[in-house]
Amino acid sequence: MPYELTLDSPLSFVRGVGETRLQQFAKRGVRTVGDLLTYYPRAYEDRGNVLPLRDCADGGIHAVEVVCTNKPVAGRARSGLEYFRFCAKDDTELLTVTVFNRRFLLSQMVVGRRYRLYGRVSMGLCGAEMVSPEIEPVVPGKPLEAVLPVYPLCDGLTQNFVRKVVQNCLPLCEKLPELLPEDVREKYELLPRGETIRRLHAPRTVEETVQAKRTVAFTELLCFQLALRRMRHAKDGASAPPLPPPEEGGSFLERLPFPLTGAQEQAIREIFADLEKPVPMTRLVQGDVGSGKTVVAAAAIERCVRNGKQAVLLAPTEILAEQHFKKLVEWFRPASVRIALLTSAVPKKWKETVKSSLAAGDADVVVGTHAVLQEDVRFASLGLVVTDEQHRFGVRQRAALLGRGEQTGLRPHMLVLSATPIPRSLSLILYGDLDVTLLRELPPGRQPIQTMVLLPKDRTRIYASIRRQILLGGQAYIICPLVSDDADGEPKDGADFKAAERYFSELRRGVFSDIPMGLLHGKMPPLRKAEVMREFAAGKTKVLVATTVVEVGVDVPNANVMLIENAERFGLSQLHQLRGRIGRGKRASYCVLLNSSGGPCERLNVLANSSDGFQIAEEDLKQRGPGDFFGDRQSGEFALRAASLADLPLVKQTAEAVGEVLTKLGEPDYRALSDEADAIVRRAGDGKTIN
Ligand code: ADP
Ligand code: MG
Repeated sequence: MPYELTLDSPLSFVRGVGETRLQQFAKRGVRTVGDLLTYYPRAYEDRGNVLPLRDCADGGIHAVEVVCTNKPVAGRARSGLEYFRFCAKDDTELLTVTVFNRRFLLSQMVVGRRYRLYGRVSMGLCGAEMVSPEIEPVVPGKPLEAVLPVYPLCDGLTQNFVRKVVQNCLPLCEKLPELLPEDVREKYELLPRGETIRRLHAPRTVEETVQAKRTVAFTELLCFQLALRRMRHAKDGASAPPLPPPEEGGSFLERLPFPLTGAQEQAIREIFADLEKPVPMTRLVQGDVGSGKTVVAAAAIERCVRNGKQAVLLAPTEILAEQHFKKLVEWFRPASVRIALLTSAVPKKWKETVKSSLAAGDADVVVGTHAVLQEDVRFASLGLVVTDEQHRFGVRQRAALLGRGEQTGLRPHMLVLSATPIPRSLSLILYGDLDVTLLRELPPGRQPIQTMVLLPKDRTRIYASIRRQILLGGQAYIICPLVSDDADGEPKDGADFKAAERYFSELRRGVFSDIPMGLLHGKMPPLRKAEVMREFAAGKTKVLVATTVVEVGVDVPNANVMLIENAERFGLSQLHQLRGRIGRGKRASYCVLLNSSGGPCERLNVLANSSDGFQIAEEDLKQRGPGDFFGDRQSGEFALRAASLADLPLVKQTAEAVGEVLTKLGEPDYRALSDEADAIVRRAGDGKTIN
């Protein structure tokens, strides 16, 4: 009795799928028939567009229809590969076809028969040539597929096999639940789900796939945003300790050596308003490098501590954690706030002490790296979690920390600081679970950073300028992209990479032999890193050769020169972050972007002409897509498979649709959509990748 396949059937029930294949599919996360149907092709081969040989572009990939004109000859190449070769022609040109490794095809080739070939065509001296094209016999009355899907593969799986298995399951695509209600589909010109999936796997023309892809991307973005809204409202009903203003005044803010900017004041007001409520705050403060986010965070921490609750400040790097720790100690000094530092650089014994005082309520604030998260840190009464540089942390990590407050039945408030200026459209999508405060103002008196794009031939001049700035009392960063020559990011195209270590010793033996220098990279032991950073901050070393570990948050106001080697290798936003390490003090600052690509690099001029992080981010997004903005959100928990966040018009449409859909989620037609959003939230909570 033939077994009736359903969407939930394991792939082993599908004809032709054996144990090996099953494991190969599983590697790709495909286990059921339903999984397979949403295993989308990554491209299409347009074999229906058959060209006369004469019209094929030399080196282009084309479909042609030819008659085999002689019996294939088999041979063995010097490399040992077996091959066979035959001649063919169409009405316009002669063609020589060489096929490697597929000797079984040889016996199937018949002189005088027509074949459709698909592959790269090159124009040689004696007519056209193709090497190992796809070969399909043309049989009258049996039309060939015009468009073939190309699936992402992993070792073992072959295109033809995946195609065949998908085709076997295709009738079931009608059973896939419809996610989009009809009125949404109509308004945004989207296809029904079954039709969408059919078109993606078995399109009749390439044009057919366009609207199908759009439908999938739209659906994905919509569900994703609905899920974020869910998460945002998940806190509805959750309680947090209210943190009202203390009865006695006297805040560190009054003792600061500088007045707050308007933006800082506004941000603090918003945060305080949140903290007074008995519901957990979930707020993102987004401010360009140097906009002074740390003070804002400290204000929240102070408020928390003065209410007798504990606060956590999480930093993405040890250097930064240590720096924040010092700042807080300095700011909170006259008050009796007990602050602890917890990073992997902290000796084990000390860590234990810190942990037990946190658990006992003997420490008020802990500053640390995510090591704090991984270890079994307990709090007596956690009131606030601040994470700096959000893009390095994931939703999952945040959730883990938030759970720490649950013993008391109360959830801590959450404040996220991000220096990655995110275009507003994206921020809505990616941080839909957070309230957003923008810090769009720099403290007054900042010297603008003069940014130049220069070439390797200017090197002598650059070194001379660095030396001059150091003589004038300044300090310099020199940023190299790689730690050593054998690092993962091996130079692929022969670009002259400067490995930090090698570069450092070159400089020390050469041009800067008389200048104290430091070397900082991520592979150094934590204690050594901290020491190097301390020496630089104290002005003991004048030049710091570093990898991008200094990218985030490091604050040495006296440093006023930055040379970025291989600047063409970095993204604009990252360069902007790096550049933000200078221009923090009174000195005029200079940033040199060294373009070693050997060609012009237009992108870099964006930085020379703008100091607005938001504008730069907008430009970066246009040029590279959003992948680099949100390591974690984009590639981890919230991997969006079909949707491209760079497709801003689509992103905007879905954002609009979210608003409309939200009001109707209770209606039966919207049930499937609502369930899907729930499923996404659940999977995020499980810590599983969404796809
Ligand atoms: P970021 O937003 O990049 O984290 P920081 O909080 O590190 O910025 O602040 C950068 C520098 O500016 C620090 O040295 C800080 O003390 C200083 N700063 C912060 N706010 C002000 C202000 N209102 N006026 C002057 N300097 C400020
Ligand atoms: Mg910062």
